[in-house]
Amino acid sequence: MTTSDHGSDHVSDHVESFDSLVIHAGQHFDPITGAVVPPLHLTSTFVQDGLGGLRGGYEYSRSANPTRTALEQQLAAIEGGRHGLSFASGLAAEDVLLRTLLRPGDRIVVGNDAYGGSYRLIARVLGEWGIEHTVVDITDTAAVRVALEAGPAKALWVETPSNPLLNISDIAALAEIAHAHGVTVVVDNTFASPALQRPLALGADVVVHSTTKYLGGHSDVVGGALVLNDDELAERLRFLHNAAGAVSGPLDAWLTTRGIKTLAIRMQRHSENAQRIAEYLREHPAVASVHYPGLAEHPGHEIAARQMSGGFGGMVSFAPKGGEAAARRVAENTRLFQLAESLGGVESLLNHPASMTHASVSGTQLEVPADVLRLSVGIESVDDQLADLERALGQATVG
Ligand SMILES: *Cc1c(COP(=O)(O)O)cnc(C)c1O
Repeated sequence: MTTSDHGSDHVSDHVESFDSLVIHAGQHFDPITGAVVPPLHLTSTFVQDGLGGLRGGYEYSRSANPTRTALEQQLAAIEGGRHGLSFASGLAAEDVLLRTLLRPGDRIVVGNDAYGGSYRLIARVLGEWGIEHTVVDITDTAAVRVALEAGPAKALWVETPSNPLLNISDIAALAEIAHAHGVTVVVDNTFASPALQRPLALGADVVVHSTTKYLGGHSDVVGGALVLNDDELAERLRFLHNAAGAVSGPLDAWLTTRGIKTLAIRMQRHSENAQRIAEYLREHPAVASVHYPGLAEHPGHEIAARQMSGGFGGMVSFAPKGGEAAARRVAENTRLFQLAESLGGVESLLNHPASMTHASVSGTQLEVPADVLRLSVGIESVDDQLADLERALGQATVG
């Protein structure tokens, strides 16, 4: 094999399974030094060899940067899509997607349990620019059909498992109904991650991520992504990505790529720990209800078992007995589960959605009950996690 053969023969061309793709997709060693890890290109601009003589197509880092390209190839590969785009945040990705798909007067159909910030963007930001929306119970396929038949719609926004109530909707069934009406199906895959669920293979048109969560995986970077197959839509998204400019910076892209390499193994452990915790909470006398798609009695369990593989994820919601006051006491008494917004990192976090992540949807159809607590179950020892919850639940009932 000659040197030049070697240079174009990438490890990623020789791997197919997900566990290998997370490590190798887009990650070509540096051709100059042989560095195994692709360099972090902290540069805003690129020297040209004469006018228009771009090296590798790079001219300015808002338009493209090699570190971001490496991440975008990795993102596309792990979601099984042709195109990946990386953004400064999940909401920046959603903003570009929605403004590309919708024009004033167009309507989007949204699930009634979704990330509060997504709903705020649709209802309060884009609503001001003439975008209309309808909220439906997205787990009820018949209700979605009625909402789509009620009038023209351009997009259907699906989040499964949903934030924060872990509701499950049937991606393949929804895609079939939506496509019959010429409606684009968007799936926010932040909670499952492609390690457990691949929406494009189930019929979705576009996958959205807050890479801040499981993909980054270490609570050290904010980012977002879009992955899709349609060449024409990808072209329009790339246009607004560059024209509006909410791209991920090289360091953020590099950190996200590094996080993704351990995604497969992290999701396995997140799911194992969360399953144990959900089963523990279900038996606990101080707990009124538990939401986790891995529990056989969860209303979406069968669909989740069909459309997810390798586990049900690391997110668990529950309501302690005693209403909001008890929930607040639990929230203030855990120690390993630190009280903070966000999710998907290696460390366990606890959130009170009604007053924290979902405060912005209070008073809307997406309002979250005030007695619900959301756990982002980390990959620490499950024994330490259980001991922490046991202590906090004991104190909640005493108070
Ligand atoms: C956090 C989150 C978002 C928003 O992403 P940011 O990176 O915070 O902008 C969107 N959807 C879901 C499900 C999320 O959890």
